[in-house]
Amino acid sequence: MTVQIRPALDTLPAYAPGRTVPGSIKLASNELSFPTLPAVTEAIIGAIGTDAMGINRYPDNGAQALVTALAEHVGVDRSRIVTGCGSVALCQQLVQITCDQGDEVLFGWRSFEAYPIVTRIAGAVPVRVPVTTANTLDLPAMAAAVTPATRLIYICTPNNPTGTVVHRQELTEFLDAVPENVLVVIDEAYGEFDTDPETPDGVAESSARPNVLALRTLSKAYQLAGLRVGYAVGDPTVITALAKVAVPFAVNTVAQAAALAALASRDELKPRWQQVVSERTRVTAALRDFGYEVPTSQANFVWLPLRKRSAEFAAHSEANKVIVRAFNDDTGGVRITIGSPTENDAFLAAATSFAL
Ligand SMILES: *Cc1c(COP(=O)(O)O)cnc(C)c1O
Repeated sequence: MTVQIRPALDTLPAYAPGRTVPGSIKLASNELSFPTLPAVTEAIIGAIGTDAMGINRYPDNGAQALVTALAEHVGVDRSRIVTGCGSVALCQQLVQITCDQGDEVLFGWRSFEAYPIVTRIAGAVPVRVPVTTANTLDLPAMAAAVTPATRLIYICTPNNPTGTVVHRQELTEFLDAVPENVLVVIDEAYGEFDTDPETPDGVAESSARPNVLALRTLSKAYQLAGLRVGYAVGDPTVITALAKVAVPFAVNTVAQAAALAALASRDELKPRWQQVVSERTRVTAALRDFGYEVPTSQANFVWLPLRKRSAEFAAHSEANKVIVRAFNDDTGGVRITIGSPTENDAFLAAATSFAL
C-alpha cells in the first residue's frame, strides 16, 4: 500500500528553481546582485538577540513594527496590511480565502509560474488567458474570460516573465467590467523598477475598490529574497481573512528586523534601482540591435520570446557561464535578470554568439 496523495497534485507543474552553478553568473531568479547594505546586516545580527531574549523566542506573529512601517511607507491604515512569508505565500493564501473546489483563478499566460501551482494546491481551477502578440496582458480577453465560477484574478504588472506593464486606463476599464465580488490582485513584485508614467498604483487602486488588492515583496528591489518577506495591501476584510489562513509565525524575527532596516534604507537603494533601469535600457538595445525580439520591460529582467528554441539558448548561455531562466514550450521564452554591468556584458557576449 502506498500513501494516498490527492490526485489534484498529479497535475501540478513542477516548480523549476533558479539554478546556481558554481563559477557561473546567476541571472535566473530576478534578484539584485548588489551587496547587502551594512544597516541591514547590522539589523540581522541585532535580531539574534541575547540568550534570554532573541531568536529563542517566537516572532511577533502580527509583525506589528513592520506593518506600522509599511503602512507609513504606502500611506494606508495598518488594518489594510498583512505580511507573509514572501508574497508567493500570500498568493497561496489568496486562493485559500477565495476558492472552494472547482472555483476558477484567472491570470494571463505567460505570467508568474506560481499562480497555477497555488491554484491547484487549493483544488481550484487555473484559467490562463494568452498574452497579446506584443507580450502584454490581454485585459479585454481576461474580462471576457470571467465566469460565475471566477473568484480570483491575478494581474502581474510588470508581468513576470514578459516584463510588460498594464496602463491605468485599460486597468480602470477592466476593473469596471469585473464583478465586485471577484478579488483582483495587482502583483507589483517589480514595481520599483517601473518608470512608465502610465503605470497604475496598486495601493491607490485598492483604496478605491474593496475588491482590489496590491501585492508587494521585499525580495527583489529590497534585496531580501533569502529572508522571505512580502505584503498585501487592501480591504481589511480581505486582510483579516489572509491572516486567518497564514502559517503561524510565517515572517520570522530576523526577517522582520531586516525588512524594517531595508525599508528605512530606501534612499540608499534607489540609486541601485536606477542602475538596473539604465542597464535594462542598454541590454535591451544591444539585444534588439543583434536581431532579438525584446518586449519593452519595466522590470529587472528582459524576456526573449524564443519559444521552442529557449532550451537551446539557455544551454548556449550556460556554456558561456551565464545561467538564465528558460521556459520550454509553445508560449515559452528565456527570462534574463539584469545584473551588474559586468554580468550583463557576459550575458550579451553569450547572446550575441548564439546562432539566431
Ligand atoms: C518574485 C515574485 C513574487 C514573490 O516573491 P517572494 O519572494 O515570494 O516575495 C511575487 N510575484 C511575482 C510576479 C514575482 O516574480
